Amino acid sequence: MAFELPSLPYAKDALEPHIDARTMEIHHGKHHAGYTKKLNAAIEGTDLEGKKIEDILANVSKHSGGVRNNGGGYYNHCLFWEVMSPDGGGEPSATMNISKAINRDFGSFENFKTEFAKAAGTRFGSGWAWLCVDKDDKLSICSTPNQDNPLMDVVDCQGTPILGLDVWEHAYYLNYQNRRPDYVQAFFNVVNWAVVSKKFNDANPGGSDFS
Ligand code: MN
Repeated sequence: MAFELPSLPYAKDALEPHIDARTMEIHHGKHHAGYTKKLNAAIEGTDLEGKKIEDILANVSKHSGGVRNNGGGYYNHCLFWEVMSPDGGGEPSATMNISKAINRDFGSFENFKTEFAKAAGTRFGSGWAWLCVDKDDKLSICSTPNQDNPLMDVVDCQGTPILGLDVWEHAYYLNYQNRRPDYVQAFFNVVNWAVVSKKFNDANPGGSDFS
């Protein structure tokens, strides 16, 4: 069974003015579609066919560069579309576990935003910024090059990504040109905290009780 390009959970223009429709159209319809097609080609006829993408990435050191780049590209963009929403932005509700965990691990939501924006802004060249949860339910921020991510066994920062921001130029150049920091700030206006919160709760491997 081959991997499939997921549909966007909102219209292409739904995230305007923060992310423009043309960028979404090319990013989803060309870039993400391309990673999906090349991932399928890279695993066709191998024992990776039928495996979950998370399991493929967890052992990516054993696989080809094509599996690493396109498997990462497939997974990362699936997450990216999911963690944005035209109804997003602002702060997670204080009753959400993710809000309590952000305050616990970063001191405040503002500090979290500053650290995340720094990770996104200082990633040289193409890559991603991540908010991850580790096996003890602790949150951390990091960035990775290219289409790597913290699920991969070749990456320094290990964890389950619950929020990701694409800082490849293809993600923002049409609207923001070289102004990556403006794009990063705009992203905070569309973050779907309900989804990030659910991902945090679902990960919760250490069973932290925030009640
Ligand atoms: Mn991208």
